[in-house]
Amino acid sequence: MVFIEDGRIVSVTPDAPGPVTDLGDVTLLPGLVDAHSHLAFRPPLDIEQLTTDDDEALLKRMRTHAQQALRAGITTVRDLGDRNYLGLTLRAEQDGPELLVSGPPITTPGGHCWFLGGATTDVRAAVRERVERQVDVIKVMATGGSVTPGSSMQESQFTLDELRVIVDTAHDAGIRVTAHAHGAQGIADAVRAGVDGIEHCTFIGAEPDWTTVAAIAEAGIFVGVTVGRTPPSPRADAIRAMYARMHRDGVRLVCSSDAGITARKPHDVLPLVVPEFVSFTESTPTAGLKAVTSLAAQSCGVGHRKGRIAPGYDADLLAVSGNPVADLQALTGVHAVFRAGQRIR
Ligand SMILES: [Zn+2]
Repeated sequence: MVFIEDGRIVSVTPDAPGPVTDLGDVTLLPGLVDAHSHLAFRPPLDIEQLTTDDDEALLKRMRTHAQQALRAGITTVRDLGDRNYLGLTLRAEQDGPELLVSGPPITTPGGHCWFLGGATTDVRAAVRERVERQVDVIKVMATGGSVTPGSSMQESQFTLDELRVIVDTAHDAGIRVTAHAHGAQGIADAVRAGVDGIEHCTFIGAEPDWTTVAAIAEAGIFVGVTVGRTPPSPRADAIRAMYARMHRDGVRLVCSSDAGITARKPHDVLPLVVPEFVSFTESTPTAGLKAVTSLAAQSCGVGHRKGRIAPGYDADLLAVSGNPVADLQALTGVHAVFRAGQRIR
């Protein structure tokens, strides 16, 4: 029995007096947390459309994507790249999943995802602008990325000094920083700068730098693994083997989606990628479930109120038919979803 009052879990007990909602024979989980999503991207990302649509059209699309995630049991979505801070407008509406928003990622002129509007040569001013607008997290493109024409995934976009300014300015304001990073130098510099999270962390085009990986584990930096539903390729296989070793070495790996980026990543994809996450990290179904609930919540800085069914936690709940610990496919058998105590499905 889970007692809910004012959107929060009050107690969890074996039996209950009083009126109840009987969900029947289901497994109850905390609502899922997608720590890396792009509500503004209609999968697959269409740069032309993203830059030409007006704010109203874009906001409408983001709203639809947020509802799609919520119906799949994703009750918290961290948006790591919108345009024109539209995620903040959506966050204020409060009838979808809880949103944690970065606004446009900080990037270089012409750099990865420049088309979202976050290109700058003054990183301190860029962080301050985001702090003033009350974003939940700072996202920085430490290296290039695959979806931006002319961008190289291996190459760093910022110097170590610039990354330090970004992290120090954000931390002074009490805000976390997560860095998109593929290339070894960009990853190593982000770690030295003291980021809280690294997205992708693929060491693309090189052997993984295990000294840096050891530093990531030591510092407790979260790594967002976003390779689920990526078509098979030799490159993807090498990256998967690397994640397995990272897991063994004690890196806190979060299972997130990067939803919106490709056609195979719609905004409700997260529950579908957990079995893949477990197989390529060579972990267990329980570890996979933590990686989309409690651990994902911690990586977003909301681990004290999201990702567990316990007194004091937000009443964000997902009820599924079957037992996902025995069979992770059960995550898609959604029976009910509660967001802040309200049943929305
Ligand atoms: Zn992304």
